[in-house]
Amino acid sequence: MRADQLPYSSLFSGSRATEVNLPFEKSVQLSLERAKAIVQSYAFQIEDVLETPSAALWNMHIDPIMLIDGGAATYASIQVNLTAGTLSEYLKGQPYLRKTIEDILAFRVLAHYCLTEVGHGLDAINMETVALALPEGGFDLHTPSESAAKMMPPTSPIGMPSVAIVFAKLQGDKQNYGIRPFVVPLSDGSKLFHGIRTRVLPMRGGSAPVNHSLTYFNHVKLPQSALLGPMNSLPPGAEAERQNFLAVIWRAATGALALGGMGISALERAAYIAGRYSQHRMIGSVANPSPIIQFRTQHTPVLVALAQAMVSKEFWKFSIRMFTDPSVEHRVKHAYAAVFKATVIHHSQTANLELSERLGARGLFQFSDIVSQYNVVRGISIAEGDILGLCIRLVSELLLGRYSLLPSTNPSSLLARHESGVFSELKDLLKQADHHRGDTFNRFILPQCERMVRAIGHRMAFDAAVSAGLDSRVTDLYLASAMKQDAAWYILGAHLTLTDQYIQEDRAIQAALPYLNEWLEATDVGPYVQNPVLSPQHWQSFVEKLPVHEAPRVRASVDFFPARL
Ligand SMILES: Cc1cc2nc3c(=O)[nH]c(=O)nc-3n(C[C@H](O)[C@H](O)[C@H](O)COP(=O)(O)OP(=O)(O)OC[C@H]3O[C@@H](n4cnc5c(N)ncnc54)[C@H](O)[C@@H]3O)c2cc1C
Repeated sequence: MRADQLPYSSLFSGSRATEVNLPFEKSVQLSLERAKAIVQSYAFQIEDVLETPSAALWNMHIDPIMLIDGGAATYASIQVNLTAGTLSEYLKGQPYLRKTIEDILAFRVLAHYCLTEVGHGLDAINMETVALALPEGGFDLHTPSESAAKMMPPTSPIGMPSVAIVFAKLQGDKQNYGIRPFVVPLSDGSKLFHGIRTRVLPMRGGSAPVNHSLTYFNHVKLPQSALLGPMNSLPPGAEAERQNFLAVIWRAATGALALGGMGISALERAAYIAGRYSQHRMIGSVANPSPIIQFRTQHTPVLVALAQAMVSKEFWKFSIRMFTDPSVEHRVKHAYAAVFKATVIHHSQTANLELSERLGARGLFQFSDIVSQYNVVRGISIAEGDILGLCIRLVSELLLGRYSLLPSTNPSSLLARHESGVFSELKDLLKQADHHRGDTFNRFILPQCERMVRAIGHRMAFDAAVSAGLDSRVTDLYLASAMKQDAAWYILGAHLTLTDQYIQEDRAIQAALPYLNEWLEATDVGPYVQNPVLSPQHWQSFVEKLPVHEAPRVRASVDFFPARL
């Protein structure tokens, strides 16, 4: 089945309201079936997931089908990008990996990526899991302590044979090999293989459940062929270890950009749901009703989310171009991925929160989609590069002058002036800091890192949209929404009073408002958000399926309220 037919298939078009009440295991099975359908609909070949991925890998991530079920999206992204992608990097030197990669891409086997540990999340470089090289060849893979358990990958058996890429410290011959990936078969679908143990974590809550687990290895014997890459030792020093670590986990950088792309369809879905609800939700007398979309407080967040989605699509194309440009060095590619993820996920989470509130009581229920989307996107903001961690690293490197990003193509724009203004502020602060890991840096620069990265992202997104010739109604509204995030800077840095800024925003909204319906239609996400709040008809068919409690038709024989004599 083609990807664009999936929302109409029985697998995806079931009732969201009913799905919320599915037992844990059934829900996980459903998500897995959906992940399989999504991945198979893209018919991935190895060429699609190489270090420079094809359009198919990026397109799957911005496909709104991924947000119908966040659990399915988790399996699909790990399968295609993290595991097949990582394996493909070693295919040239280890051609026997082809069969495993093909099985993963065809979803004949479920694939996992076991990197982070209970005791080592953002600092996974300090992981404890060990792979000891054995004198006769092969390795002994072991979890030496509770804090070394791999955390989050959904490794507990769910009916499909599974395989994992497990990261461990490679030890042997008193040499330093650093952290290396190993291919480890995990289960036949019902039982884990010898020496492997998992514990299933409880439901995250608020979104489709995933069987996130803790995974332990008890002296699991691996053949020599399980090691990905050659067994060469590293030069001495922490920097060599760091470079090796960043190289072996490179697909997490690809994942940062790919998962960030899901923020675009999140914006479109949230705008569409809240927009349609606000168009049909009436207030006033029955004889003279009027829709709540008329209120500034109702249509503004819808229009802003739509403008941000349109601008982010151009930003996405620009970021992919930079990420796949062979002349750009790896850490700079990662920087572009970080800027995109931090900026677009922030747009989508702001929209998810505000637009779910604009649905009133219905916004609290998972069936209205936006609140569960908020929880899915929260996971995305942590996985494959926690946004705060990415921002701290990027700003530190930019301030230390280790590299720079492309300058603005509209250097006199307000957003470009804001970016360079915030950067200068931080540079001045850095002059007072003793060291980039020192106390002053910690106290004054760390808290500003996300703001700095979003300033870069707003400017890049705006530039990309202007270069693509996007309608000025869209870019003006994007500009106003970005300025609102740092209004104080524009008072001092651009001499725009708050009133000036309110007027600028008002003009942008006035110009965009007549296009609200057209912009909603243009998202094409209608088939992906068929939930009860979308229209009175959707609501009615939802109500008809709710469990009913009713008084018996015959009069009760016991009179609970006897008349007073
Ligand atoms: C939905 C989801 C799916 C996942 N799937 C996988 C998977 O398939 N495989 C896998 O290996 N892992 C997976 N993970 C785990 C993920 O990689 C980690 O959650 C992530 O690296 C953060 O680690 P942590 O949760 O232990 O947070 P911690 O490391 O405990 O960090 C918590 C917070 O501490 C702060 N912090 C930590 N270090 C610093 C620092 N140096 N400077 C400043 N602040 C700091 C930050 O605020 C950070 O957000 C998944 C996570 C999620 C949410």
